[in-house]
Amino acid sequence: MELEFSGDTPRFKELREKMVKYQIQQRGIRDPNVLQAMLFVPRHLFVPEEHLNEAYDDHPLPIGKGQTISQPYIVALMTEALELKKEDKVLEIGTGSGYQAAILALIAKEVYTVERIKELYESAKERLDRLGFKNIFFKLFDGTLGWEDHSPFDAILVTAGAPSVPTPLVNQLKDGGRLVIPVGERHNQELIKITKKDGLQRTQNLGGCRFVDLVGVHGWKV
Ligand code: SAH
Repeated sequence: MELEFSGDTPRFKELREKMVKYQIQQRGIRDPNVLQAMLFVPRHLFVPEEHLNEAYDDHPLPIGKGQTISQPYIVALMTEALELKKEDKVLEIGTGSGYQAAILALIAKEVYTVERIKELYESAKERLDRLGFKNIFFKLFDGTLGWEDHSPFDAILVTAGAPSVPTPLVNQLKDGGRLVIPVGERHNQELIKITKKDGLQRTQNLGGCRFVDLVGVHGWKV
């Protein structure tokens, strides 16, 4: 896969190195694949022009349509929790800017990403295609229903806050698979990791977080 990051500059590269060192490594993220991917992907190419100077700051940013690109540390924490291997097939719910999908696509074999807002789906697809990603597949759909045709998945990541864990997502996880999802109230969730093993589910709580709503049949109602 030949990637085309012509919009990168030494200044942005330096900001990215600082982001990875101070916001991510120093807070305990160790997976070398995660650190490498976040050093590599020019995050500023995924944020709106008016927020360009904040692209590497320690907080989420608006991407239009009332949605956000997650804080860099949260992207790193969720990606590490997925325990990705290079042959893995991953499902992401909530494409948004496409930044998280790009990080996943550098580590895993294939990324299937679902978005419910047409404008975001179109701009993320255009952006990731233009940057040269060949292993990301897009769908405009209610991701609380998963992506049945390509299931089962080794890992599933939900990047919007859910009232409860959508059953279709658990069903579309392979045995040995990992699901990471923010679950809780509308403005305050816990990041939950579910591991499926021999028909059993193990649940871990990775801590508090704050995401925009997961809207759908198995999510919040519009
Ligand atoms: N991962 C994104 C962050 C996305 S913000 C990034 O890296 O930029 C959450 C996204 O989830 C929003 O774009 C929102 O429209 C989308 N979303 C919410 N409910 C959804 C659903 N049921 N199916 C698919 N996408 C959904």
